[in-house]
Amino acid sequence: MSDGHSTDKRSTFPLPLSSVTGGAGRKPAAPAPVATPQTATRNASSATGTSRSGAAAAAPAPRPPGYAQAHTPSAPVAQRSELMASEAVRRAMVARVARQGVKDGVVLGAMEAVPRHLFIEPALSAQAYIDASLPIGHNQTISQPYIVARMIEAMREATRASPQEGRQLGRVLEIGTGCGYQAAVLSFVAREVYSIERIKPLHELAKTNLRPLRISNLRLQYGDGMLGLPQVAPFDGIILAAAGLEVPRALLEQLAIGAHLVAPVGAQVQRLERITRIGKSEWASETLEACHFVPLRPGTI
Ligand code: SAH
Repeated sequence: MSDGHSTDKRSTFPLPLSSVTGGAGRKPAAPAPVATPQTATRNASSATGTSRSGAAAAAPAPRPPGYAQAHTPSAPVAQRSELMASEAVRRAMVARVARQGVKDGVVLGAMEAVPRHLFIEPALSAQAYIDASLPIGHNQTISQPYIVARMIEAMREATRASPQEGRQLGRVLEIGTGCGYQAAVLSFVAREVYSIERIKPLHELAKTNLRPLRISNLRLQYGDGMLGLPQVAPFDGIILAAAGLEVPRALLEQLAIGAHLVAPVGAQVQRLERITRIGKSEWASETLEACHFVPLRPGTI
């Protein structure tokens, strides 16, 4: 599954981000904004403010091991005020996600901790905290904040085999790294995160985006996520960020008993499904809500 075509040693698996944290951190030239199919444009209409009063209620984000702030207190004044402004809009984004129905404080805390604007090309960064998916190049998108939070919340929910509410997840797999945003959020809720991307330039973009965050419990892999990562399985949670007509069998097999897989399923009309492995050869499936993601495709490019 590793990148057999590249001579770049760093991209062999597993790729600890700490191994790429040096070097010049400038992003490559941003792709021009293009109209793309929307990822995860489920418009959470239930913004009724029923469950939480806002981000202030979110649990403080647990720092993943090795996480270091990208910005230091000694940053220049202009940069500091920019940072404070981005923190304020991020808090507002999290408050909105909570009003849309996400209740898990750990997930909300993680969303508050990850600087979403760092994952979006500069020309679009003013839109980083709106409730929408945005283009990241190669006809792909960064998912809408609400759906990122909702999927992680659904994955974390207790099961009969793992009844502990708000449990700390061990090993988690994401299919579809894209720009790396959801992988960064996941690194706050699980001990180990693996994320696979099939488009080489996006895998590279995610590495560039994640480098300044110095997240040491996240491994990025270039490959076909439909095959999963059998050498690392079983996983305590799996999230697909792209929609197939069905969930690949290999991924179901790599789920630990009692764990959840959360995936969009369908073509034009899609639904978010949660599959729970309840035995060695027994899985249960439930439909959570309607959604819209970019397609899951086989192979690598
Ligand atoms: N997780 C991203 C969403 C990226 S969009 C976020 O944080 O916003 C979905 C991604 O899935 C795209 O980058 C697409 O290239 C990727 N993808 C589609 N099929 C895939 C496959 N079989 N294996 C790995 N990645 C895949």
